[in-house]
Amino acid sequence: MNQQKIIRKKRDGETLTAQEINAFVSGVTDQTWADYQTSALLMAMFINGLSPDEQNALTRAMLASGEQLDFSDIDSPVADKHSTGGVGDKTSLIIAPMVAACGVAVPMISGRGLGHTGGTLDKLESIVGYNVNLSTAEFKRTIKTCGFAMAGQTAEIAPADKKLYALRDATATVESIPLIVASIMSKKLAEDLDALVLDVKTGIGAFMQKFEDSKKLAEALVKTGNAFGVRTEAVISDMNQPLGKYVGNSLEVYECVKILRGEIDEQMQPTVVLSIELAARILVLCGVAKTISDSKFQISNSLESGAALEKFRRNIELQGGDPIVCDQPEILLDENLIKAEIKAETSGFVSKINTLAIGECVSVIGGGRIKVEDNVDFAVGYQCEKKIGDAIRAGDALGVLYCRNKNQFDSIREKLVRAYKIIPEYNSDEPRLIVEIIES
Ligand code: URA
Repeated sequence: MNQQKIIRKKRDGETLTAQEINAFVSGVTDQTWADYQTSALLMAMFINGLSPDEQNALTRAMLASGEQLDFSDIDSPVADKHSTGGVGDKTSLIIAPMVAACGVAVPMISGRGLGHTGGTLDKLESIVGYNVNLSTAEFKRTIKTCGFAMAGQTAEIAPADKKLYALRDATATVESIPLIVASIMSKKLAEDLDALVLDVKTGIGAFMQKFEDSKKLAEALVKTGNAFGVRTEAVISDMNQPLGKYVGNSLEVYECVKILRGEIDEQMQPTVVLSIELAARILVLCGVAKTISDSKFQISNSLESGAALEKFRRNIELQGGDPIVCDQPEILLDENLIKAEIKAETSGFVSKINTLAIGECVSVIGGGRIKVEDNVDFAVGYQCEKKIGDAIRAGDALGVLYCRNKNQFDSIREKLVRAYKIIPEYNSDEPRLIVEIIES
C-alpha cells in the first residue's frame, strides 16, 4: 500500500479505512514506513483527529502488533486500574492488594516515572529485592498465587506504541487525545481484562491540566475500552495538589504500607479515599459487588481486617522483595537523609499549590527522571504538611524536604516556597478530590 496516498488522504481530512491503518501500524513495526513518513501521518492525525472507527482501528492494530496475555485459566474476574500520572499518586500499591483480597485478579503492568510524575515500578523497586521484570509465566504464577502481580511492560506488548511514542515525542504530537487513547488502550487491552478503571488526573500537576481536556480524554478512553468488550469507567481526580502525604518513591511506599496497616493520619486520607473509590468501581464492574456502597464496604473491610496487607506481604515475597517493610515500614526511610523544613514566608491561607513545581523539585534532587536513562534516588522526596485551605503562620512548615545534602536543599528551597500561594483571607474554593465519574 502506498504510504504517500495514505498520508495525503489523512492530510486532506478524509477518513482512513481499517486496512490503511493496519498497513501504517505494521509498516511502523516492520520498518516499511520511514520515520519521516510515520511522523507526517502522526501530524496529520494530530491536526485532523480520528473518527471513532479510526480510533478503534488504530487501537486494534497497535494491540495486534504484540503479545496479548491470556488469563482464561484464572477463575476469578480480571481487572486493572490505570492512572494518567501525577504527583504523589501512589494508589496502585493499595488498590491491587485490596481488590485481590476481594477476589479479583489484578495483572498490573506499570511504568516508570518521567519528568514531574512518579511511576509505580520505581516505587516498588524501593523495596529491597523487589523484581518488576517478570516473564509472562512468572507474572501469571504470581497472580495465581496471591491475586495480583506488578511488573513492567515487556518488549512484546504493543511494540508499535514504543516506536510511535518516540516519534510523537520528537514531533510534538504527544498531546493528541486519539493518539493518547490508542497508546494507553493498546497496552491495557493486552492484559485480557474483564474490567478497567482509569484515573484521569486533572489540574496543574497532571498530564492534562485543563478539566475539559481531561474529560475528553476520560470519555474517549471509556468509549474505546467498552468498544473492545472491557467494562471501563474513568474517575477524573484532582491534581491541583499532591495526592496524600508524601512525594518520592520510598516515602510513597511508606505511606501505602502505613495505610495498609491502618496507621492512617489526616494527610494520608485523600490517598485512602481515592484508592477506595477506584477499587470499589472495579468490584462493581466485575460483578463482585452490586452497588458502589456495598463495594466500598467490602474494600474497606479488606483494609481494616488486614487482608489487603497480607496480600501485599505475599506479593512482595513472590516478587523477591523483603516483606519486612510490612512489619517495620520505617525501614523504608533512609536515616542518612537531611530532613529540612520548607518554611512559609507569610501568614494566611494556602490557596494554590504549584504541584508541577513540587514534582519537578523532587525529580531535580534525584527522586525522578529528567531523561529516560537517568538513575533514581529512591529515598529522597517531600512530605506535604499544608494543603489548599489550610491556615499557616510565617515560619511554619509548608512541608519537609528529604534530601542528601544542603546543596540540594539550597537549590530548590525557593522554588518550593514559591510553589505555595498564600492569601490573607480564607477562600472556600478547595478542589474536590473526585471531580467527575465517567461511567461505562
Ligand atoms: N501514557 C501513555 O502510555 N501514552 C500516551 O500517549 C500518554 C500517556
